Amino acid sequence: MATIDFKNVQKRYGQFKAIHDFNLHVGEGELCVFVGPSGCGKSTILKMLAGLEETTSGSIEIGGRDVTDLGPGKRDIAMVFQNYALYPHMSVRSNIGFGLKMRGVPKADIDKAVNEAAEILELTDYLDRRPRALSGGQRQRVALGRAIVREPSAFLMDEPLSNLDAKLRTQTRSEIVKLQKRLGVTTIYVTHDQVEALTMATRIVVMRGGVIQQVGSPDELFSQPANLFVAGFIGSPGMNFFRGPVEIENGKAFTRFGEQRIPLGQVPQKLTAKEAIFGIRPEHLQVGETGVPVTLSLVESLGTEKILHFATPKGQETDAIETEIVSDEDARDKKTMLARVIDDRRYHDGETIRIALPEGKVHIFDTVTHEAIV
Ligand code: ATP
Repeated sequence: MATIDFKNVQKRYGQFKAIHDFNLHVGEGELCVFVGPSGCGKSTILKMLAGLEETTSGSIEIGGRDVTDLGPGKRDIAMVFQNYALYPHMSVRSNIGFGLKMRGVPKADIDKAVNEAAEILELTDYLDRRPRALSGGQRQRVALGRAIVREPSAFLMDEPLSNLDAKLRTQTRSEIVKLQKRLGVTTIYVTHDQVEALTMATRIVVMRGGVIQQVGSPDELFSQPANLFVAGFIGSPGMNFFRGPVEIENGKAFTRFGEQRIPLGQVPQKLTAKEAIFGIRPEHLQVGETGVPVTLSLVESLGTEKILHFATPKGQETDAIETEIVSDEDARDKKTMLARVIDDRRYHDGETIRIALPEGKVHIFDTVTHEAIV
């Protein structure tokens, strides 16, 4: 087990700056997930930590030891990739024990370590098989086994689940979390999938364009996103956004949504502009007797849970809000808002319902900097 520290780490590829001043402390035994869209620099950071890519400047420490200039073999870490990288001609047993054999560990010790890892990973019955005779999930467990037997001070995992189908991915995801808890090994896990990040991490690092956007627990990122990007990226379906006026009266702030005045509570100190971008999560919108009338353009029913689609009320500007804030699995256009409701009522396309925005659930962002205003 070890701590991991990045201190002012930068990475350039020629003129291109892939990582800007990166600073992060990862505590002992933590499962820290790096998440962000493609190209944000997640893999670059991991490769620098593994010693597979040089840092342009700054330093990296593992367990308080500066490893910036050490080769990958001297860093006492184990990596698990998405493509498993198993040796096809070797049995599962040999694949798991390979690293130890290379290190000259006595055979009896290798056998003991392999058997223990196989038991933890429920691979005991497959030890004599070749990788091609295993499912994708079992292969990934073999790759994990190979990492475990080395007893490294840290695990680095780069999208280890992306080759698995949806069901196996969910299953293997919880297996990795349990395994990590049981072994207590400091782990950095990279993914572009925010659901994976939210369900696995003790702490999440959200990255964009080589810059950390926010570091926090899943709850913190969800309920207090630092900016528009994090707000849009975390949560599924993603947050709804609209532009609106800021009105202040007796120390209280309000905006308008359609015909309705929406109370925002005490005026946040930083709220000085006449306009702001507002955000509300689909699960926080309320359907009821009061609220703004909206016409449903689509009803997606998932049993008791429904996703209701409707147009943002007229006059509520959404075009100028950048599209990249919406995560990739979310196909709605910018003028459409979503409400996620759990009730037994039936909803129909074309029906008019009333939607309310409860006080305390509306997020406020600066129209220029896109920082959260709190
Ligand atoms: P993905 O999820 O697609 O793997 P990522 O967040 O892991 O993305 P990186 O692979 O770390 O992103 O890449 C970060 C940026 O650095 C990208 O813009 C990429 O094009 C660039 N980059 C990565 N490797 C090199 C290289 N060897 N030479 C030049 N540019 C590179």
